[in-house]
Amino acid sequence: MQQKKTIAFIGLGNMGLPMASNLVKAGYSVYGVDTNPNTEEKLSQIGGKIDVPVELLVQQVDFVLTSLPTPQVVETVYLGEKGIIKNAPSSLTLIDFSTISPKLNEQVYAAAKEKGIDYLGAPVSGSVSGAIDGTLTIMAGGEKRVYEQSLPILEVLGENLFHLGESPGTGTVIKLLNNLMIGFYTQAVAEGVALGEQLGVNPDTIYDVLSVSFGQSRVYERNYKSFIAQNNYEAGFSTNLLLKDLKLAKQMALESGSQLPIGDQLIDLYTNAADKGYGQMDMSSVYLIMKELNNLNPVSQS
Ligand code: NAD
Repeated sequence: MQQKKTIAFIGLGNMGLPMASNLVKAGYSVYGVDTNPNTEEKLSQIGGKIDVPVELLVQQVDFVLTSLPTPQVVETVYLGEKGIIKNAPSSLTLIDFSTISPKLNEQVYAAAKEKGIDYLGAPVSGSVSGAIDGTLTIMAGGEKRVYEQSLPILEVLGENLFHLGESPGTGTVIKLLNNLMIGFYTQAVAEGVALGEQLGVNPDTIYDVLSVSFGQSRVYERNYKSFIAQNNYEAGFSTNLLLKDLKLAKQMALESGSQLPIGDQLIDLYTNAADKGYGQMDMSSVYLIMKELNNLNPVSQS
């Protein structure tokens, strides 16, 4: 039997930790790296290996997978002096699951290619629950050969796998459209639920009816059931990360000469939310701002 590939997983946050854990459970030898030692410790507890610096680690593994918060961090981790590409052998395959710009995907791809290293830009959707269940949607851009050789790993992490073209940024284009729409729906849910409550309708009743109506969306289900109804806004996907993606979508629109009339307003709304202290909280917390604006009582009835 062919031996399983060894993997380094850099960025063990809300998404990365469950993804790396699933690879450990699938029998891969996984080395975890995170600037936060607590998350490294969690991976270690289920059998992951830790405490090897990136510049050494990349020489010991077959694959390096990353799930990092921002384009700036991705740039440093891939292109920095102590980063992956500077120190990696040509036998390595890199897969970045972070949401960044298509341009940065291309930049990293070009730097990797120069050293003969394979790279896929493969942003994901499906939220933390999808990362835990291994049911993510994975939107990969890059050479088909590299996608095919990565499939056994991608199949552990996701259910809906797409190879979207040879350009390393094509997956990211679609991912940013997805998150632009998530921005719309999240604000729509916040406004709609808060308005219903202001009018004295029980939010559970609104949810039950709209769940079988055209106002339903997967974002409504997520934001309402897991956060608003629980009155718990610990981040699954933080307001700051959504704002980062809306700005990336705006940049993409500017570069293509496209208009985003509502997208522009969303950037202002979520910037205001971050300024008000909701940045680290889940994106669904913009509902609390609507409540504040409407001066609602915490509980209302039908
Ligand atoms: P997160 O902030 O929970 O996790 C990021 C992790 O990276 C943190 O543990 C942080 O300590 C670590 N980190 C930061 N700088 C580092 C460095 N230099 N080296 C090593 N580790 C470093 O973010 P997340 O929610 O897991 O999202 C990760 C990426 O996936 C983002 O690009 C996000 O936009 C995208 N994404 C998130 C979701 C979601 O629902 N949370 C869904 C799809 C895509």
